Amino acid sequence: VGVAAVVVRQRMKSSGRWARAVAIVKEFEEKCGTPEAKLVQIADAMTVEMHAGLASEGGSKLKMLISYVDNLPTGEEEGVFYALDLGGTNFRVLRVQLGGKEGGIVHQEFAEASIPPALMCGTSDALFDYIAEKLANFVAEEEQIFHQPPGKQRELGFTFSFPVMQTSINSGTLMRWTKGFSIDDTVGQDVVVELTKALKRKGVEMRVAALVNDTIGTLAGGRYTHNDVSIAVILGTGTNAAYVERAQAIPKWHGPLPKSGEMVINMEWGNFRSSHLPITDYDHALDVESLNPGEQIFEKLTSGMYLGEIVRRVLLRMAEEAFFFGDEVPPKLKIPFILRTPEMSAMHQDTSSDLRVVDEKLKNILEISNTSLKKRRVVVELCNIAATRGARLAAAGIFGVLKKTGRDIPKEGGEKTVIAMDGGLYEHYTEYRKCLENTVGELIGDESSSAITFEHSNDGSGIGAALLAASHSLYLDDTSS
Ligand code: BGC
Ligand code: MG
Repeated sequence: VGVAAVVVRQRMKSSGRWARAVAIVKEFEEKCGTPEAKLVQIADAMTVEMHAGLASEGGSKLKMLISYVDNLPTGEEEGVFYALDLGGTNFRVLRVQLGGKEGGIVHQEFAEASIPPALMCGTSDALFDYIAEKLANFVAEEEQIFHQPPGKQRELGFTFSFPVMQTSINSGTLMRWTKGFSIDDTVGQDVVVELTKALKRKGVEMRVAALVNDTIGTLAGGRYTHNDVSIAVILGTGTNAAYVERAQAIPKWHGPLPKSGEMVINMEWGNFRSSHLPITDYDHALDVESLNPGEQIFEKLTSGMYLGEIVRRVLLRMAEEAFFFGDEVPPKLKIPFILRTPEMSAMHQDTSSDLRVVDEKLKNILEISNTSLKKRRVVVELCNIAATRGARLAAAGIFGVLKKTGRDIPKEGGEKTVIAMDGGLYEHYTEYRKCLENTVGELIGDESSSAITFEHSNDGSGIGAALLAASHSLYLDDTSS
C-alpha cells in the first residue's frame, strides 16, 4: 500500500465511506434498470433477430439452429433407451424404459457425476473418455439388474448443451464452447463421432440415435407429459430457449418440408445482444476477462454462472473505493467466481431479522466478519438488483418468443401455451423465478396471462433425449434397410 492510499484512506472518514458506498450501489441500480418500456424494446429486438437468424445462416447473433426434430414425442415410444446429458457442471447418464401407449415411463434410473474442472479446459479425448467411462460403468451396473435382450442394439440420446450445427438428427459439429468449457480441439468436430470413438475405446456397444441440445430435450420431455408445451427455456449455468416453428417460416431450411410442417429451433439466445440491454462496467469487465469475450452477452447478464460473479465485482469495487469492509480489501473478494449464485441466492433470500445467513456466507466464503446489519442489508440489495435484472431480461426474451409465434395475444379457440422450464437457477432461486414469471405476466397483460403457464420440467432434457432416441432409432432402422 502506497503512502498516497493511506492518506486517502485517512481522509475518507466513515461517513464519507458510507456515502461513497451508497453512491456505488445507486449507480449500479440505475445502470441495471429494466423499466417495462425497455423490456418491450428488448423483446422486439429479439423477434427481429429471430427473423434474421431464420433467414440465413450467420444472419444474426441468434443462431436459430435447426434441430432436425420435426416431430415431438407422441407417447407411443417404447423400449429401453439410454441418455447422456452433458452441459453444465454436472453430467448425468440415464436409462429409461418406455411403456408405449398409456404405458408412460415404466422405469428410470440415473447416475450423476461432476466434471473435473481440469477436463473442462483439457483435450477433447480426455473429456469424451471420461464421459464414456462413466457411461460404461453405468451400463454394466444397470444390466446386471435389468438384462439387455441378447443382440439388441443399445440406443443413446445425447444431450449436448452447447451450440452445435446439426447435419442430421444424430450428427453435428461444435461451433464453440460456452459456460466454463474451453477445449480447442473439439471445436469444428462432430461430437457424435467423438463420443462414438470414445465409446469404442471403452468397449461400450451403443449407437447415438439422437443428438440434442438441452432445450430441445426439455421441449421433448415437456411435450411427453403435456400436449400444450411448445417452448422450452433453460435457466441454469447458461441460458437458452427452443420452440416449435413453422417450417415455412424458416427461409434458410432447404431440406424437404416435414410432414408435420414444423421444425424445432434451438435459438441459442444466450448469444443475443442489443443496444437496449442494460450493461454496466462490471458486466463489461466480466466479459473481457471471460473465456469467451464478446460472446454470450445475454447469458452473462442472466444466467447462474455469472450472477454471483457480478455481485462480487460490485462488492470488490465498494471495498476498494469506499473501504466497505474496512481498511483492507478482503483478499478472497479478489478471486473471480468465488461467490457462486447458489450462495448469492441464499443471501438474497435470508429471512432472518439479523440476516444471519448473509453474515455466515460473508464469513465462510469471503472471510469477512463483523459486518453491521446495515452493511448486510446492502449486500442483500446488491443481490436483488442483479437477480432482478437477470430475471426481467429472461422474461423479455420469453415475451419475444411469444410475440414471434403469435402467442402473446389471446387466441379464439382458447389455445394454451405451456413453457417447459428447467435449470438450477429456475429451480432453486425462488426470488428469481417469481420475478421472471411476474414480469412475463406484466409484459403480456392480464388478458393473455391465463393462456400462458410455466411448467418445471424436472430433468426433462435427459428423458427428452431418450424419447427422441426412441423415435429416431426407428427412423435409422428404416433408412438403413
Ligand atoms: C449453451 C446452450 C445451452 C444453454 C443452457 C448455453 O451456454 O450455448 O446450448 O442450451 O447454455 O444449458
Ligand atoms: Mg442441464
